[in-house]
Amino acid sequence: MIKLFNTLSRKKEVFKPLKGKKVGLYTCGLTVYNYAHIGNLRTYLFEDILRKTLEYFGYKVKQVMNITDVGHLTSDADSGEDKMQKAIIREGLDMSKESLLILADKYTKTFKENLNDLNILEPQVWCKATEHIDDMITFIKLIISHGFAYETEDAVYFDTIKYADYPKLARLDICGMEPGKRVELGTKKNPTDFALWLKAVGKNKNHIMLWDSPWGMGFPGWHIECSTLSTKYLGKQFDIHCGGIDHIPVHHTNERAQSYGAFSVEPVKYWLHGAFLVIDKSKMAKSQGNFITLRNVKEKGYSPLDLRYLYLTAHYRKTLNFSWPSLAFAQESYTKLKEFILRLLDYKEIKGNENVVKMTEELKLKFDKAISDDLNIPKALSYIFDFIKEINGLMDKKEGLPTEEIGDTIFAFDKVLGLKLDQVKEGEVPDEIQHLITEREEARLAGDFKKSDQIRDKLKSEGVELKDTENGTKVKIKK
Ligand code: AMP
Ligand code: ZN
Repeated sequence: MIKLFNTLSRKKEVFKPLKGKKVGLYTCGLTVYNYAHIGNLRTYLFEDILRKTLEYFGYKVKQVMNITDVGHLTSDADSGEDKMQKAIIREGLDMSKESLLILADKYTKTFKENLNDLNILEPQVWCKATEHIDDMITFIKLIISHGFAYETEDAVYFDTIKYADYPKLARLDICGMEPGKRVELGTKKNPTDFALWLKAVGKNKNHIMLWDSPWGMGFPGWHIECSTLSTKYLGKQFDIHCGGIDHIPVHHTNERAQSYGAFSVEPVKYWLHGAFLVIDKSKMAKSQGNFITLRNVKEKGYSPLDLRYLYLTAHYRKTLNFSWPSLAFAQESYTKLKEFILRLLDYKEIKGNENVVKMTEELKLKFDKAISDDLNIPKALSYIFDFIKEINGLMDKKEGLPTEEIGDTIFAFDKVLGLKLDQVKEGEVPDEIQHLITEREEARLAGDFKKSDQIRDKLKSEGVELKDTENGTKVKIKK
């Protein structure tokens, strides 16, 4: 029995998919106007853990992720410029559709590389906003035909007052939002109304990406893409919708309203939201300029899987404060885990030991219980480390151990953890260490001996010894 915290009810609920063991999962994708920062990546990692946990328990997950390449304005509501157009100016490109496509391709490609580096599974369906404009227009027409939207001179707006349940997901205080002096209504009827389609007039006159529609030339609002794409690929009702907590009050609230407006059903059974990655107490955000990318992490000598490990140590609903020392600490613990696997695989005393067989079975029960309890990975990891401590002690005493059972159990856990533990074989060099060795080799060939020595010292401190021979660099990993 898996329990998940549903934002809609603010409770942990027993997870029961709509159709047997099949799960439809929609995860809001990236707005591809810049590199993903490691805050964004924390959310994608939480979603990956969710998917892997469901698969571990035998569910068949169909995951859909959009790529936002139009319509996301600098405020999550309807004001400001299109983020993609702002990026064109930032990168000194000419204002054209071609530039937008180049930008979107560049950042989508890097985003997918980031996911791969972090061992995050790609969704089965990727869908780009700009390739689904006709679907969005059809969707908006449906909403209008059900009386949930109205057209003004500058846009088609969703009429939030018509949907009595609108405040539920975010627990919004609508009364407290009555139009006051500081709320710019423009042509909207109510402060919470939001654009489904923005016309190419007024401040949006010079928008680059424009399409013809029943309401004239224009472009879709940001939220309509997720309603259209999720229901197109997963059906009018589907199981789980995820994103970061910043999406609760505007993006997901509006998405839920639109899908209801189109199909008159509650679109999503479980809404799951990941907490922020913060840095010095502020949310990591591109607009704040305080962001770190995966590339920065690698440049500092950490592997993406060190970062993955760090994220596993915090529950997805708890804010995580990023710092370099915390990443260093995560790297150390992760190395200990890998060293344990190496030691275990090399251990020779493999006579049975009934007690340890029992301990291993108990570990599995505890692991399964922890991850079923709203994905409590930190607890699951702490059980693994308690176990490792005991087994290391037994190995010190040269006791017989069921090494195969232990190895199989931990490799099975790794289907959820995604730390590539089954690739830490004896004699094999882990990815992140290989990455440092290559970097050192390049520095050495370029004559940068200061850098190459620094990398050698760093590796040494992690128990990796390098010996330069005529046949290349030999590597020895201390167990
Ligand atoms: P965006 O490209 O802005 O739509 O963001 C992509 C995903 O990253 C969304 O699910 C956001 O909720 C999430 N996100 C943005 N900033 C952070 C952060 N600092 N920590 C965790 N998730 C974030
Ligand atoms: Zn979305």
